[in-house]
Amino acid sequence: KDIAPWYSHVEKFAGISGNRDGIAVLPDGEFMPPMDMNIVEKDLAARLKSRYQGKRHFIIGRVANITVPHHGRVNCQYQNKCWLGCNFGAYFSTQSATLPAAVKTGKLTLRPLSIVKSIIYNRDTQKAKGVEIVDAETNQTYEYFAKIVFVCASTLNSTWVLMNSATDVWEGGLGSSSGELGHNLMDHMLNSGAGGRVEGFEDKYIFGRRANGLYVPRFANIAGDTKKRDYIRGFGYQGGASRGQWSGKVDNKRVGGAWKDAIAEPGSWGVGFTSFGEILPYHENKVVLDSSVKDKWGLPVLAIDAEIRDNERKIRIDASNEMKEML
Ligand code: SF4
Repeated sequence: KDIAPWYSHVEKFAGISGNRDGIAVLPDGEFMPPMDMNIVEKDLAARLKSRYQGKRHFIIGRVANITVPHHGRVNCQYQNKCWLGCNFGAYFSTQSATLPAAVKTGKLTLRPLSIVKSIIYNRDTQKAKGVEIVDAETNQTYEYFAKIVFVCASTLNSTWVLMNSATDVWEGGLGSSSGELGHNLMDHMLNSGAGGRVEGFEDKYIFGRRANGLYVPRFANIAGDTKKRDYIRGFGYQGGASRGQWSGKVDNKRVGGAWKDAIAEPGSWGVGFTSFGEILPYHENKVVLDSSVKDKWGLPVLAIDAEIRDNERKIRIDASNEMKEML
């Protein structure tokens, strides 16, 4: 309850599209209109709901792609090129949303090509007081000071910055007194799921290139799950239904008019889902600074030592079997 208003604040600022599905395990947020499911997905979702009496769901993904204009950003054009950077500002990013908002305050100084080397620690106040940076082009170092320092470099590089800020006070890095800095590395595990061909709907097609898929919220090891599972925690899935492309008909063996006509037609419908399982926080899964290897700025690189273990392997098997059964 304490953080709910902050989730709302972030969702409203970033612009999240999605449906209010009313699923306890995946609470609703402040959503813009959802992207649409295609006709096969709607059919699958309706049949799944009835077969599992409303306990399992195929829902449209809740994504940071805006579906209506928002703070000067243009709504998504359904081209699915978000990873190239979105010219429309439809995909939430630093460039499309947070930096323009910061510029508007008139208080932003942007210093690109700056690599944060370490956080400067003030022993008297026992607080962070600034950062030391390396200019990526000149290799010169500079110091910047602030009342508050936010470390927003994602999991691995935030940890790198903290570790590289070691002093005689914090020998393992800033905030390392727990002995856990760099440990308990967690990730999604992928490459487990199921897919298949869908019969029918040959006279139906999709709208655009939707930058989104379906989501299957967690159902294993939550209230109401009566199945005995040989692991703890759970998984969700991402996937969806689509029509095969012309490229699926290229085999280098056929030529001529009939073949050209064939590749102008979409292929049959298919459906597929990949699970996103939880990796437990194991102390042994860790990152450390590797001082024997330096990057081009002379900074130690991060060495990653992590693996999935018994619980994760069991999740993968169950996730694959469950999806086979649902499909
Ligand atoms: S599909 Fe992605 S890149 Fe294209 S407009 Fe939508 S958000 Fe931007």
